Amino acid sequence: MSHAAFADSVHVRAPGKINVFLGVGGRHDDGYHALATVFQAVSLYEDVIARPADDFSVTVSGVEDIDSVPLDDRNLAMRAAKLLAVAVDHRGGVALEIRKNVPVAGGMGGGSADAAAALVACDALWGTGLSQTRLHDLAARLGADVPFALHGGTAVGTGRGDQLNPALARGRFDWILVPSEQGLSTPVVYERLDLLREEEGALADDPPLSLDVPIPVLQALRSGEPVQLAETLFNDLQAAALHERPDLAETIRQGVAAGALQGIVSGSGPTVALLCPDPETAQDVQSSLRETGLDPLHVHGPVPGARIIG
Ligand code: ATP
Repeated sequence: MSHAAFADSVHVRAPGKINVFLGVGGRHDDGYHALATVFQAVSLYEDVIARPADDFSVTVSGVEDIDSVPLDDRNLAMRAAKLLAVAVDHRGGVALEIRKNVPVAGGMGGGSADAAAALVACDALWGTGLSQTRLHDLAARLGADVPFALHGGTAVGTGRGDQLNPALARGRFDWILVPSEQGLSTPVVYERLDLLREEEGALADDPPLSLDVPIPVLQALRSGEPVQLAETLFNDLQAAALHERPDLAETIRQGVAAGALQGIVSGSGPTVALLCPDPETAQDVQSSLRETGLDPLHVHGPVPGARIIG
């Protein structure tokens, strides 16, 4: 039994992510699309504090869009805690406090980070001491992005995005993130992609049901050269996200005009991620976008996954 079993509280920090590459293939019979993606964990974090309690509860603070975060069993952190409790036969509950920094419904996997953090926090609070492999299995049952939030770093996701393999990334990449006040629903963006493909007649070509990440993306990550990575940034969901939010194209254009190497919609959006050549240029891009009334954040990646702190 871990020494943390009798702690008053356990504080875990888990990162949000950017998809530096996101290829979307055809839709399987179960409704999920075939994916090939590269996740990078970035220095924008969710904090989850777990305290002993008889029942399960969750509170959320930190973001303006708090009303859109459910506080019941739909909350991914709550589901993570309950899943772990059943798996290890824990009698009793937990009070989870979530301090959010990752934009809600922003395409940065904030809910998944909360779930990964809750798993690690409850495992320590309850002294269950599960192996990484068992935590990974539970994470995978909660959602395709949850195992990545557990591991962090840079990783390739294939299958339905759930088959995770670490990718070698050298050095540090500086990003400017531009969050939006209004989130975008992931299912809506996927539906839009299907519609756009139908309109283009791409369905006749049958998008593949198995995809790989192109080698140049992996080479660029290994090189540690932002210029090389900028050339390979790609998101199959971008056209669909821009269809819902045409203004994001202007944000990307402004970021590049201010010195960013390239910009991309992160995952299903609407957060825009602008890759910068170095920290100084990133600060210039941030200042320049601020002058246009946006609220850009300077982050870097890769960073580790869910970790106990304090
Ligand atoms: P996805 O992981 O589906 O790509 P996202 O990264 O765009 O989503 P999230 O902030 O993770 O966005 O959440 C998407 C939706 O999930 C929210 O609108 C909310 O209704 C629900 N949700 C469930 N649990 C949480 C949580 N802990 N934090 C935020 N949203 C949550």
